[in-house]
Amino acid sequence: MEKIEHIGIAVKDLEASNPLFAKLLGVPQYKMEEVATEGVRTSFFMSGPNKIELLEATNPDSPIAKFLEKKGEGIHHVAFAVDDIVSEIARLKQEGFQILNETPKKGADNKLVAFLHPKGTNGVLVELCQEIKEG
Ligand code: ZN
Repeated sequence: MEKIEHIGIAVKDLEASNPLFAKLLGVPQYKMEEVATEGVRTSFFMSGPNKIELLEATNPDSPIAKFLEKKGEGIHHVAFAVDDIVSEIARLKQEGFQILNETPKKGADNKLVAFLHPKGTNGVLVELCQEIKEG
């Protein structure tokens, strides 16, 4: 894995959290994006070189809705940038990690993503993400 790509934070209301995080970080969100297949609306902030993703549920079946129900607002996942998500999934599987989706799916921010089951990673939901290369 290359580096932490972003930290994902589950929020109840993006319209309320955007100005809050803008105040906290001193910069407004630089983009918002809905990932309909995941039932989430996201917004992204930069903090220096680091990225924060806020996630709001768009329907009650969304993984974010379920997370908020169980745990309330807070840190939802840590995302790591990988160069080749397919080979990284294979490596982690070999190491005994449980991959929630072995076929990478399209996430926000032009990324292919896969998640590791938090049971195998000390309770931390880990996201792998690979930039989708053009062409
Ligand atoms: Zn993420």
